[in-house]
Amino acid sequence: MADLCHLEDFLLLSHMIINDKILDEIKNYSVANCHKEVCGFVVLEKDGLFFIKTENKHPDERNFFLVSPKDYLNIKNNHKILYFFHSHIDNAFFSELDILQQKYHNMNMLLYNVKSEEFKEMKCK
Ligand SMILES: [Zn+2]
Repeated sequence: MADLCHLEDFLLLSHMIINDKILDEIKNYSVANCHKEVCGFVVLEKDGLFFIKTENKHPDERNFFLVSPKDYLNIKNNHKILYFFHSHIDNAFFSELDILQQKYHNMNMLLYNVKSEEFKEMKCK
């Protein structure tokens, strides 16, 4: 399972996929909420890509994120999900928990670190 997943430098792969407009939107949303982790989904529609924000339901929202199953199912049933996104306040790398979640859901993950202003992605083939 582990070797199916690999970390890629964000700029190498998805700069072509996720356009600057979406990246700016995600960045601004993260910076506006820089005291906590925020999350959402990048979805593909007929007329392009969209970012859908979801509420972080985790009690410790500074350090963790939690999307409610209801929100997740609602988005999954109505959209083609390209990435699950969440922000970090001051850690540029995915946590062990993030990596576990990525493997469990088998979903491309996008991370933005507010402090270093860096995007990172983790993909599953
Ligand atoms: Zn994380």
